[in-house]
Amino acid sequence: MTTASDFLPMTRPDIDEATIAGVAEVLRSGWITTGPWAARFEQTLSDYFGGRTVRAFNSGTVTMEVALRMLGVGPGDEVITTPLSWVATANVVLAVGATPVFVDIDPATRNIDTARIEAAITPRTKVLLPVHLAGLPCDLDAIDAIAQRHKLRVLEDAAQAIGSTWRGKRIGGFGDFASFSFHPNKNATSIEGGCLVLPEDADPALAERLRLQGVRRFGLDGMDVDVLGGKANLTDVAARVGFGQLQRVDDFNARRRELAQAYCVALDGLDLGGRGVQLPVRDFTDSNWHMFQVVLPDGVERAGVMQRLKDRGIGTGVHYPAMHLFTLYRKMGFKPGDFPHAERVGAGTLTLPLFPGMRDGDIGRVAEALSAVLREFKV
Ligand SMILES: *Cc1c(COP(=O)(O)O)cnc(C)c1O
Repeated sequence: MTTASDFLPMTRPDIDEATIAGVAEVLRSGWITTGPWAARFEQTLSDYFGGRTVRAFNSGTVTMEVALRMLGVGPGDEVITTPLSWVATANVVLAVGATPVFVDIDPATRNIDTARIEAAITPRTKVLLPVHLAGLPCDLDAIDAIAQRHKLRVLEDAAQAIGSTWRGKRIGGFGDFASFSFHPNKNATSIEGGCLVLPEDADPALAERLRLQGVRRFGLDGMDVDVLGGKANLTDVAARVGFGQLQRVDDFNARRRELAQAYCVALDGLDLGGRGVQLPVRDFTDSNWHMFQVVLPDGVERAGVMQRLKDRGIGTGVHYPAMHLFTLYRKMGFKPGDFPHAERVGAGTLTLPLFPGMRDGDIGRVAEALSAVLREFKV
């Protein structure tokens, strides 16, 4: 029997006492929605991304939608992305009236296979929307070269990639548009929230109007609306949480890397049933290790594995089923077999516990439990 206290969740946010006290101060201050802390959070994010212009939002989903609107993407346009991501990635393309065009993944990295992108480009293609899944960076050199060659814009879905680097350069610190999420499961959280890093040719005032009803203020009492904006501003309470997290995100990521490395060592040393549990790419320099995911062998019933791990006090998750197989997308004509690598990984992927507060001993416990459970399944 495991008790609630030794249950190891898949992830857990780590909010320090200084941040909790800071939130209490904001709550007592008389100004709790978007105000000085939201501005300070944006400035801190800008510093983190090498001085680039950053605007904060109340979700990582809406940041991407705003970026697509800023790029003028709409009906008749195509956006190239991966079928293996949180469904927000393709939903935002639909939300602006455009068409998602999926390109299968590289089964090793589980990110979009850049070698297949050019074959998917048509005269309607406007944007490349790569996702750095689990914080492992996509090949941004290849993506940039394709974008240049075909005069396309790039929006990086970097929701999972805060603190990740590409060839030593911080994701978001260079390139075109980059979108981050501060959902509680991400490596840094503002409870809910997100931010958009803007390229130099983008107008931050337009991002602000799209964030709040399209409103433009002037003088002491002037107000106009010239574009349809939404309601996506970040509260000062959330910004204060995000500010506290940003001070610690590099430490969080260092700890995640250490734990991920320990997972690889522990899993290498165990009998995982021979037929191959696929481990993630061993990138201990560029990835922020947002998740540690294994892909189970074909024929192993994932729900059964999850239940048995849960019985042993270990939480797991699924990130993600291939999204072109969701009903909404099938109605658009997508079908099984369209993207076989994404489908296989999506069907077998299992996210193991990984968060900075884990103890060293937790790694061996999870690895041994996984090994024992897989032996029960006789793979
Ligand atoms: C979390 C996430 C999002 C959406 O972020 P929210 O803040 O939850 O709206 C988008 N894309 C990916 C890949 C994500 O992991």
